[in-house]
Amino acid sequence: VKEVGKTYESAGKSLTVLHRINFEVEAASTVSIVGPSGSGKTTLLGLCAGLDRASLGSIVLNGVCLDELGEDDRAKVRNQYVGFVFQNFQLLPTLTALENVMVPLELRGERGSRSRALELLDKVGLADRGHHYPLQLSGGEQQRVSIARAFSNSPQILFADEPTGNLDAETSETIERLLFNLNRDMGTTLVLVTHDMELAFKTKRVIRMKGGGVISDEVTQPKEL
Ligand code: ATP
Repeated sequence: VKEVGKTYESAGKSLTVLHRINFEVEAASTVSIVGPSGSGKTTLLGLCAGLDRASLGSIVLNGVCLDELGEDDRAKVRNQYVGFVFQNFQLLPTLTALENVMVPLELRGERGSRSRALELLDKVGLADRGHHYPLQLSGGEQQRVSIARAFSNSPQILFADEPTGNLDAETSETIERLLFNLNRDMGTTLVLVTHDMELAFKTKRVIRMKGGGVISDEVTQPKEL
């Protein structure tokens, strides 16, 4: 991430929410981005994942320079390398849990997407909930489905926006384990946005933001989970 800035334009007004952000994340590492509400964490995560485009600067993801790509090519990069766990799950309400997990597999034209999706649901402890629609699942279960979906393309890098926000302690712990096991077992790079400092200090590095800028970047010594 090099000299990245983001300005939103809406209703004829422009609002700059990120200024000159610089950092590099090593493959297979774990990083948290923390900071007050409105400091630009979600925006930054979205730019890094190729969900949106930076207004200034450049972002290179796994050797691919995102700012030179149009939306279709960014979507291809996302499908190939990126998993994203959204703050509010973003499951498709008209599809079952199983079908939600199948979507990225089908987009990639993978064979056997149903059995692979079942395997993924089993991994997050929801093999028996495949036929449920999102509204028939608890918040923690929806989050686990969204994690199964994010894992489905075996991403090299997983971005998670408040993955344990609004979940009880036990469910949060289950979700944390799923994320950190993915890093440990598959070498998936993990980039989290969180307000939970206990979770942040379980990652190897904590980047603090304030007012759209990075104010500190600290290597931590996480305890083994
Ligand atoms: P929180 O911790 O509350 O989720 P955050 O640090 O993730 O906050 P962002 O969601 O990145 O912050 O928002 C940063 C700023 O950008 C906020 O002031 C927000 O109002 C503004 N913003 C976010 N998305 C848009 C958008 N699509 N259009 C205009 N402004 C936006």
